[in-house]
Amino acid sequence: MSRIKFFKEKNLPLEMHKVRIVQKLNLLPIDERLKAIQEAGNNTFLLRNSDVYLDMLTDSGTNAMSDRQLGAMMIADDSYAGSATFYRLEEAVQKFFGKKYFLPAHQGRACENILAKTLVKPGDVVPMNYHFTTTKTHIVLAGGRVEEIFKDEAIETTSSEPFKGDIDLVKLEKLINEVGPEHVPFVRIEMGTNLIGGQPVSLGNVQDTKAICKKYNIPLMIDASLITDNLYFNKIREEKCADMTIAEIALEISKCADIVYFSARKLGSAKGGGIVIDDKALYDKMKVLIPVYEGFLTYGGMSTREMEAVAVGLEEAVDMDMISHGPEFIEEFARILTEYNVPIVTPPGGLGLHLNAREFVGHIKGEEYQAASLVAAIYLVSGARGMERGTLSEEKNPDGSEHIASCELVRLALPRRVFTLSQVRFIADRLAWLYENRELIGGLRFVEEPSVMRFFIGRLEPTSDWQEKLVAKFKEDFGDSL
Ligand SMILES: *Cc1c(COP(=O)(O)O)cnc(C)c1O
Repeated sequence: MSRIKFFKEKNLPLEMHKVRIVQKLNLLPIDERLKAIQEAGNNTFLLRNSDVYLDMLTDSGTNAMSDRQLGAMMIADDSYAGSATFYRLEEAVQKFFGKKYFLPAHQGRACENILAKTLVKPGDVVPMNYHFTTTKTHIVLAGGRVEEIFKDEAIETTSSEPFKGDIDLVKLEKLINEVGPEHVPFVRIEMGTNLIGGQPVSLGNVQDTKAICKKYNIPLMIDASLITDNLYFNKIREEKCADMTIAEIALEISKCADIVYFSARKLGSAKGGGIVIDDKALYDKMKVLIPVYEGFLTYGGMSTREMEAVAVGLEEAVDMDMISHGPEFIEEFARILTEYNVPIVTPPGGLGLHLNAREFVGHIKGEEYQAASLVAAIYLVSGARGMERGTLSEEKNPDGSEHIASCELVRLALPRRVFTLSQVRFIADRLAWLYENRELIGGLRFVEEPSVMRFFIGRLEPTSDWQEKLVAKFKEDFGDSL
């Protein structure tokens, strides 16, 4: 739903910025794309960016920066200790979250490392709306276990539920009683729930979750990496937020949390991260780990230039003109694909468009990685790279069998302010073709399978010659078009 009204246009997502620096892109012929994806072990993480037309892998560190951010980078105070830049960033963080203490870290997962090392003991259980890959890994490495307590609607791919990221409060309380509050080091809410399709959490649910945490004296932790999309949806979809400013909603969410952390590769549209808290004792406990794993306390592994960019990025993150771009483009992308009958996750969320691979390529067995097969096929027919978010992104069961993911998704990320509507229409058009020819897509199997987070660097091969057949059909239909 665009906030701008039109005369003849339906819902045109309108850019509230103009482009002043561009980067030339490459669209390789399909034979070269076939070679590139095979050389990359059918893993889009291993493609070279020069072989990619639309890089829709992630929104992490790939959002477009503003002129104000680039300008700020030029005045960075480059010193190891006590840099003026750090204090500017600290102030911006305090203002955005309304909390006292800020610990810098080089990215989001680095915060998770510090938090898990400080708070999680062997045997602990961490309830959360949904896991994120790196979060879960850090908790498991510290000897803990993750329990997801999402509402049933969360993993229904087709839904009209506006806040699929909400915690199921009944399940939360039941879980706390089952394992005992003393084994729950914190409850974690991930804003803009990444792995179920960038789905938001309501302010009401954050407040209700806090009330339960308070009852059992358990800290509430908020992963604010994707909070900007979430804030947009709070404002647009949640009645109690309609009259609040974006800054007020952010403060209200943060107020419920004992611990907030974020990846500034997303929030702040630059690179870095940090932990924000009010508790001095906990701050002191974590503080000593920053120089060990990240860097001195006034940079935490970030370059001063990036810190300047994050500080300005945080100021811009409360501007509706800035944060509306992603969700509105994604909504338009979703509208076009729905018109073409391509199965997607609804309602559309933030950070990217999510295809329902389980439905798209239902003829492929779960053990042959539906979403991974689809994402390789998408690169072949369009030169766009997405990310597998399904079984391949899961760790195997302890007995070595595949843990079939509850959602089998392909994410096509729309880094903020990066792509144009023509590019969105191009990829939508290729997806429509691919959907009509979906029977040609086959499965994948591992040739090199790392034991942790295999999706990042694992290599796979097709289980048949389906890729050659898909290329042949493409040439039949598109001739020598790229
Ligand atoms: C990206 C992300 C992280 C990890 O952040 P990095 O900066 O990539 O390490 C953590 N949580 C969520 C929700 C994310 O989207």
